[in-house]
Amino acid sequence: MKASQFFISTLKEAPADAEVVSHKLMMRAGMIKKLGAGIYTLMPMGLRVVHKVEAIVREEMNRAGAVELSMPVIQPAELWQETGRFEKMGPELLRIADRHGNDFVVQPTSEEVITDIARQEIRSYKQLPKNFYQIQTKFRDERRPRFGLMRGREFIMKDAYSFDRDQVSAKASYQVMAQAYRRIFDRFGLTYRAVAADSGAIGGDLSEEFQVIAATGEDAIVYCPNSDYAANMEKAEALAPAGPRPAASQALTKTPTPGKSTCADVAELLGVPLQTTVKSLVLATDTLNETGEVIKTQVWLLLLRGDHDMNEVKVGKLPGLSAFRFATVPEIEAHFGCKPGYLGPLNLLQPVKLVVDREVAVMADWICGANEADFHITGVNWGRDLPEPDMVADLRNVVAGDASPDGQGPLAIERGIEVGHVFYLGTKYSQAMKATFLDQNGKPQLMEMGCYGIGITRLPAAAIEQNHDERGIIWPDALAPFTVVICPINADRSPEVKAASESLYAELLAAGVDVLLDDRGERPGAMFADWELIGVPHRVNIGDRALKEGNVEYQHRRDAAATAVPLAEVAALLI
Ligand code: ATP
Ligand code: MG
Ligand code: MG
Ligand code: MG
Repeated sequence: MKASQFFISTLKEAPADAEVVSHKLMMRAGMIKKLGAGIYTLMPMGLRVVHKVEAIVREEMNRAGAVELSMPVIQPAELWQETGRFEKMGPELLRIADRHGNDFVVQPTSEEVITDIARQEIRSYKQLPKNFYQIQTKFRDERRPRFGLMRGREFIMKDAYSFDRDQVSAKASYQVMAQAYRRIFDRFGLTYRAVAADSGAIGGDLSEEFQVIAATGEDAIVYCPNSDYAANMEKAEALAPAGPRPAASQALTKTPTPGKSTCADVAELLGVPLQTTVKSLVLATDTLNETGEVIKTQVWLLLLRGDHDMNEVKVGKLPGLSAFRFATVPEIEAHFGCKPGYLGPLNLLQPVKLVVDREVAVMADWICGANEADFHITGVNWGRDLPEPDMVADLRNVVAGDASPDGQGPLAIERGIEVGHVFYLGTKYSQAMKATFLDQNGKPQLMEMGCYGIGITRLPAAAIEQNHDERGIIWPDALAPFTVVICPINADRSPEVKAASESLYAELLAAGVDVLLDDRGERPGAMFADWELIGVPHRVNIGDRALKEGNVEYQHRRDAAATAVPLAEVAALLI
């Protein structure tokens, strides 16, 4: 590809609504363009990356024995009524009607349609197992679409569905997918973790999320550095012993910014993950004198709804603080001399009364809670009333330092971006939709199912969160829009530079390298800035001076400077 024929459109500044680095850089690199909330055009540069993701996913799905098809994006409501999801799914499901008043949905996923296909097409055990997949547009009317492609409303997902004759075979199909996912994410060249996830009503351990590790991730991952134990926070909480968690307070010496802090600020300050499953945080703030003695402790409270996003939770003003720490309820009780159980955690949708402090007077009318008007809890009072005793069992946030359920040591917490999810479904859908096959005895049996998703368009955003610097994106080779860029320096003034660039370009193309020749005639500085922003991993600069000595310059996107390489050898380096 030649840059003059391609479409390159870079920006110096990111738009104001871009909060995370991947969103900013994808906008600045001209990879995506916003059309509406959570709705983006994949511009030519971005589409190339998406195609790279798709190619790897397709190759590995095929290798794992899955077969590709493509299901309609717009699906009749009748199928969704059969499983009850048309009613149950809530506002994330986009429902539309045609001119005849017939209801449809825009697929957020496709269990119903694939089960409908299976019940028509699969009659005998001899046709099983089967795994169908598609790489297709999805729509979810996310409550808060944000971070560009990371949480879009329209996005591309690879969704696969396995059908098996019995549980044993279904679990084997699940394992085949779990292994294929490992190969896929290995090939992307990203740091990721497969974590146990909640398998819902079905139970068992057959649900795993694939999380790309990134500090900005929305999910909290709990893992044990000494063992294979890894789970998302939801699952980890479900496994944790009931009741107040064991003391694992973390002394922190950071000072909060005065004024209103967002929840993200507080989480960062506390070194606790910004996660969606925290139900309540009890914070103790110590005021120290010059010699470091605690002269006053105040206890603060954050109330969080289980599924809300914490970005705009206000914790109010924290004046005059020099220390800030995360305290457990028993610690606070001990500090104030309360009897155990005196301080209760919080029933989130009720007004709360909590006793905290003997010196600090009752604090009345706190507004606590989430970022939506209806979810704020107003009139929270900090007083001396006894809480309901049974509320104590509610506080069960897993924190770093808690014991791992496998007994292998203390837990650690990091953040991740969910890029894939494998899930054993059992007969949930086949039962609702009567998807049966005839077994060896000619008896109808329900098909055993599994479903397996990968966020195709979320993946590039996750890759950028993990791989960038102040100059821009740093693509792993497997995902780069172009693997190599050739930058001729002042080619208009040097026929030798032009010829050497053209001939290297032709040689690399012939060898199947995904190479771009930047023939736009830009000044070197502007040209380099573009490619560093766009994140092409390998760059060859061809200039007159080095060329006279038979050299060109090679620079990997992670290198601090370019290295001289003989022109005759540079192709071999890149092929
Ligand atoms: P999340 O927890 O981020 O909302 P999910 O658990 O609802 O994701 P799944 O139903 O498991 O998502 O879908 C499979 C994959 O599709 C996810 O692992 C994720 O990579 C991707 N995905 C889900 N929602 C979105 C979205 N709004 N934008 C982009 N990708 C998404
Ligand atoms: Mg979701
Ligand atoms: Mg999820
Ligand atoms: Mg999921």
